[in-house]
Amino acid sequence: MDRRAFIIKSAAFLAGNFSVSGRFSRNADAAIPWAKTKRIPGIAIIIDDIGYSRKRAWQFLKIGTPLTFSILPQLTYSCELALAIHEQGHEIMLHQPMEPYNLKNHNPGPGAIYTRDGQEQIQHIMDQNIRSTPFVIGVNNHMGSRFTENSDKIRPALEVVRSNDLFFIDSRTSGRSVAYKTALAMHMTTLPRHTFLDNSTLQSAILARLNQLKRRALKYGYAIGIGHPFPWTAKAIARFASDLNPSQIKLTYISEVLKTAKTDR
Ligand SMILES: [Zn+2]
Repeated sequence: MDRRAFIIKSAAFLAGNFSVSGRFSRNADAAIPWAKTKRIPGIAIIIDDIGYSRKRAWQFLKIGTPLTFSILPQLTYSCELALAIHEQGHEIMLHQPMEPYNLKNHNPGPGAIYTRDGQEQIQHIMDQNIRSTPFVIGVNNHMGSRFTENSDKIRPALEVVRSNDLFFIDSRTSGRSVAYKTALAMHMTTLPRHTFLDNSTLQSAILARLNQLKRRALKYGYAIGIGHPFPWTAKAIARFASDLNPSQIKLTYISEVLKTAKTDR
């Protein structure tokens, strides 16, 4: 989108006329096995937990490589950062807060959905979150170890994602998550993340995870990693990106990975 189109779209959003439909066409060439194409394998990195701090988001924008930003709803900088990130040409997802185990120590924050919520409430909250975050093309879960294990609850949540023509990435915060499986059964555009990048704060550990993603992408044509807005993560991604051989492998957007993915079914 050029700058003029961006401004028009931003103005429409701010005037409350923003439409969330039709921004992502599902399953465009999803069935093409990557090895038969001339495509360069791609790694999509999603940076989660955006919305608390401008500075933390900007350290990733400054890297100058394609990244996808997943924005928490209803925070001080959620809307402002969505507009700025879009203006820089990057992709935006809604980082939908969902109930984790051990709520006492892990608060999912504003706009969260809980297993105690009824279907209508789940769908109302998610609709609000999607509508309040401009330029969202997909959704992944923030926390949600309890919520994503519950198929009766995840289904109505995914229905909202589907009805808004968005894709879903399962962050896999629980090994027993049924979110990806349910989204597949609902014929949605969906993939699970493959690797969390920064469970450790050590550069060497983050680089090792990035190299793991690279090996996966070279083998299957694509890989999805999730990182968090920490300075050490930004540094490791910048270093990894500058060392990549662009004729062999590239960092790319999540929508590109979804288009080219030969799914793990
Ligand atoms: Zn998160």
